[in-house]
Amino acid sequence: MNDQNLNELFPSLMSSSKMPVFFIGHGSPMNAIQDNAFTQSLKAMRQTITETPQAILVVSAHWNTRGSYVNNSPMPKMVYDFSGFPDELYDVEYPAIGAPELAQEISEAIPEIRTDQRWGLDHGAWSLLVHMFPDAEVPVLQLSVDVNMPAQSHFKLAAELKELRNKGVLVIASGNIVHNLKYWSSDEDAVPYDWAIEFDEWVKEKITERAFDDLFNYNLTEKASNLSVPTPEHYYPMLYALGLMDEDDEIKFTYEKVYSSISMRSFRIG
Ligand code: ZN
Repeated sequence: MNDQNLNELFPSLMSSSKMPVFFIGHGSPMNAIQDNAFTQSLKAMRQTITETPQAILVVSAHWNTRGSYVNNSPMPKMVYDFSGFPDELYDVEYPAIGAPELAQEISEAIPEIRTDQRWGLDHGAWSLLVHMFPDAEVPVLQLSVDVNMPAQSHFKLAAELKELRNKGVLVIASGNIVHNLKYWSSDEDAVPYDWAIEFDEWVKEKITERAFDDLFNYNLTEKASNLSVPTPEHYYPMLYALGLMDEDDEIKFTYEKVYSSISMRSFRIG
């Protein structure tokens, strides 16, 4: 694609200085209503952006589909996609408007991404945004994760969205590098599992080396990957963040902590 074509992409948005990309390990929905080291790190991440984004695109581990979809609701509804949590979590509202025109443009530029209005904002999005953009002043849209698609295809799909970064769109990929609820303990003092630390460190090393092929083939590593990534929906969002990266982008780890069987590792690109 030449520069002329790039300028024609996403015409509803103005050109901007290049936006960073965030990968955030979102963990428990309870973070939405808590003030802790992780939520402080979200606020710090937000402070590193000098320009207010024109839109926020969240790739959420909690919207799993067959095929890829972008939400084109004018006003995305709240999705409380969990059970057994305190009532106050169901009272959280995040009243951002959507970006239906941009959703349409994304779908036109990349036809394998179709538009959809059945979903809204799930906690992969709003549990972070309430801390990062508490005034909900920026339009938000979500991209689904097609769990049947191979790892590398997620990376390639994200690469097709790179121009969004030059059009003031902040992409937040929201998942968890290690995510095993079967072994999860909500006790704050729960000791992290050795296999969780091992796999989290392995992924960090591969990200730093930009050894993407290894990250696509994470399931070839030993039991660490089977236990750390029993299902891939929380792992794949990270591949979107990496797919949006350019060679000259820096990678900065903004939060590094494994709780029990969940890694909250988060990073900023660019
Ligand atoms: Zn989750």
